[in-house]
Amino acid sequence: MSKLYLIKLGEISLKGLNRGFFEKKLKNNLKLKLRPYHSRFSQQKGRVFIEFDDEAPDELIRKVLTTTFGITGFSKALSCGKNLDEIMEIARKVISEGSFLEASGSFKVEARRADKSFPMNSYQIECELGGLVLDTYPQMRVDVHNPQKLLFCEIRDKAYVYSSPVAGPGGLPTGTAGKGLLLLSGGIDSPVAGYRMAKRGLKMDCLYFHAYPYTSEQALQKVKDLAMLISPYLQGTVLHVVNFTETELWIKDHSNEEEHTLMMRACMMKVANMIAKKRECSCLVTGEALSQVASQTLESLAYTDSTSDLLVLRPLVGMDKQEIVDLSVKIGTFETSILPYDDCCVIFSPKHPLVRPSISRENQSFLNMKIDDLIAKAAETAESFEFLVEDSCRFQDFTIRSLFNPF
Ligand code: ATP
Ligand code: MG
Repeated sequence: MSKLYLIKLGEISLKGLNRGFFEKKLKNNLKLKLRPYHSRFSQQKGRVFIEFDDEAPDELIRKVLTTTFGITGFSKALSCGKNLDEIMEIARKVISEGSFLEASGSFKVEARRADKSFPMNSYQIECELGGLVLDTYPQMRVDVHNPQKLLFCEIRDKAYVYSSPVAGPGGLPTGTAGKGLLLLSGGIDSPVAGYRMAKRGLKMDCLYFHAYPYTSEQALQKVKDLAMLISPYLQGTVLHVVNFTETELWIKDHSNEEEHTLMMRACMMKVANMIAKKRECSCLVTGEALSQVASQTLESLAYTDSTSDLLVLRPLVGMDKQEIVDLSVKIGTFETSILPYDDCCVIFSPKHPLVRPSISRENQSFLNMKIDDLIAKAAETAESFEFLVEDSCRFQDFTIRSLFNPF
């Protein structure tokens, strides 16, 4: 026995000559996540069909399809030859399970005839299938404007019938936009920033600055857990952990207290640029949002920006904290992000940080610290951990591999 999933593509279908590039990437991304299971792919305009052997667990397939960007919706479907008798037979099966099982409330049938040689038009197919639902469940009623349940029929190379599509994550396939480096702290914002950029097709490595023993082993474990939680969206990832203790202590001793945070952000940017270049990442991604804290005022962001050669993307810049929290709940990172292990920024924060820095003054302060050797050493001694894409949607047995020579 096998089972069939019908997958709807969103923005990819609007692409012109390069549509094939996006479709191919989507298929590859799905295949990598589904690697342990036997699956057959086929494709038609705006749709991908995947047929699985029965052993592939629905729960895993669902996790894969809800975390792979480029998909706007999916449903388990049945297929048959293009004649009404067979269509009615599979429709009977479709409505005998899933959302129609409740046998109450309103419904609508939507038919789509991609193969125009089929002798009935969409409206006639809808009437036939609507009649079938009413005969089977006389207590149900048709509501074409605001139905509680939907039954679909598509006439293509074969006829397909399905109900209750599940929403996909939308966006564009991860990897189609190139590769970046996500500055991943243990907070709420940066995992969401990673999710948002992956949704626009960016593949990412992650980078965490660890200030042991000022930040605990649990803080590092929390970041690993966050990397694992966002890894399905990122199509797997590599987390680089930089030991930042010496750098932070040096900053504390060689700059004014009010500038500590800005100097630390500058050092982070410089280390991030070094690692990004080694790992062929062409931009940085952070979870900063305008005016959220002192280091995120317009002037502070302008200074931080000026310390990076690479483009810095801040997908949350215009979002309210509550909007970011809502998204972190939705993607499943919130509960981990709020675990109470401080990150290094919190521990070294000045009481009265500068909020309106001038770029030229901060550049001078940075030079005065003479910290270049220390940040080069920090970048060179990073430890790296790989989160494999083929494990990313499994519910146990997640493999984290230490990479001894990632650069
Ligand atoms: P978050 O909730 O993501 O921690 P935040 O609101 O606490 O963000 P900051 O601590 O100022 O804000 O950090 C801003 C951004 O800088 C973070 O979103 C993240 O991208 C990066 N960042 C901060 N601390 C670290 C760290 N220890 N390691 C890696 N990146 C960091
Ligand atoms: Mg933080």
